[in-house]
Amino acid sequence: MEKVLCLDIGGSSIKSGLVDISGNITDENKSVIKEETYESFLETVKNIVDNLSEKPKGIAAALPGGYDIKNDAIFAPNLQILNGRHIKTDIENMCGIKVLAENDANLAAYGEYVFGDKKSVNNMIFCTLGTGFGGGLILNGKLLQSDITLFEVGHLSINIRGRKCGCGRNGCLDEYCSTSGIIEIYKELGGSTNGINPYILSEKAKNNDTLALKTFEEYGRLLAFAFANLAALFCPEKIKFGGGLSELSEYYMDCLIDEFEKLLFPAYKGRVKIERAELKNQAGMLGGAALFFGL
Ligand SMILES: [Zn+2]
Repeated sequence: MEKVLCLDIGGSSIKSGLVDISGNITDENKSVIKEETYESFLETVKNIVDNLSEKPKGIAAALPGGYDIKNDAIFAPNLQILNGRHIKTDIENMCGIKVLAENDANLAAYGEYVFGDKKSVNNMIFCTLGTGFGGGLILNGKLLQSDITLFEVGHLSINIRGRKCGCGRNGCLDEYCSTSGIIEIYKELGGSTNGINPYILSEKAKNNDTLALKTFEEYGRLLAFAFANLAALFCPEKIKFGGGLSELSEYYMDCLIDEFEKLLFPAYKGRVKIERAELKNQAGMLGGAALFFGL
């Protein structure tokens, strides 16, 4: 059966796997990029390709940033080794294999959709909650794509005078619904952020720490506000969320759902489902394969 090599590219490592048309993954691996240079990144890709158990039909690359398809250029200002580089052309020249490249959150959205909701849902929003707030949009059964990566949902503002974002504006969701965002909520409620991370916060919440529980509640409220804004655009049948913070959703899901139902545009009530993603960290690879195979 034909397989595509899917690369989930990060700043310091690359997750990889061979994926067939049914979504089965083999040769799964995580490779560390030895030096912080583009040459070392390409060498890592070459090693992955050389050590596969069979030759893939193509390569699908999930990129940690925006992607200009026309000029084959990555926009990743926080990742100097990749920013502005021509990944698709360079890997194709190096390996002699056709490459498809797209933003990682967009591909994760498509993976969740094709291998989860395609039979029952036409319009869906997918958000990733992690170091940033990313996402992808499925419209009439297709991933919304253009010559530049779309759906930069993390840069929708919820407060004109809010926290300063790296993009230059204030109040972006990236600064509120991300890992650093939840820590900031804890701080604002009076918690000490020394050595704190979302996982430690969840441990505290598990032990009924009032401040930690309040932090997750406030996080759920902010997320509900964000999702209600997104739902107002086109009443999607479903909003799904994945990423590291989704794994802690037991501490904010109730609040998220309650608030969302209150905030949702009245005519849309009862029409938009909120759900946690299912594929976890394989969503990007599966989405890359789905797009490559034209599923
Ligand atoms: Zn921003």
